[in-house]
Amino acid sequence: MNKVSCLFCASPCSPDAVINLQEVTSSSLVFPEDGPIEEHLRAVFVLSRILKISQDLMCQFLTKGDGQFYPELWFNVCGECGECVADFHETLKQVSKLEKKLTQLESELKGKIERSISVSNNDAIWNHIRREALKGK
Ligand SMILES: [Zn+2]
Repeated sequence: MNKVSCLFCASPCSPDAVINLQEVTSSSLVFPEDGPIEEHLRAVFVLSRILKISQDLMCQFLTKGDGQFYPELWFNVCGECGECVADFHETLKQVSKLEKKLTQLESELKGKIERSISVSNNDAIWNHIRREALKGK
C-alpha cells in the first residue's frame, strides 16, 4: 500500500511521524481504546470539525470503500500537523466547557431575578427589564 501523505501539508509521512501523531493525540484525543476505532474517530473528527466536510460528502467517502470505512487509505496527518489537530481538539474542549459555564452563570443570575420577581420598584424600566429577562423561562 502506498504511504498516504499528510492531509494538511501534503508532506510524505514517515513511519516515525505517524507514531509521533499517535503519541500526541493519545493524550488529548481520548477514546476508549486504541486501535482502528480510535483512528476512524480521529478521521471523522478532522473531516467534520476542522475541515467542515459536509455529511453528504462524508457519506460518499464512506461508500467508496464497499460500505466499509477505510480512512487509512486516504487519511494521514504528519507529526507537526498532528500537534495542531490535538491543539484544536483541546481548545474545542475548553470552549465547550466555557460555554457550559456561561449558561450556568446566566441561569444563576436569572434565578436571582426569578426568586425576587415579586419585589417591584417605582421605576418602570427596572420592572420591565426584570420581567423581560424571565420571558421564555
Ligand atoms: Zn502535515
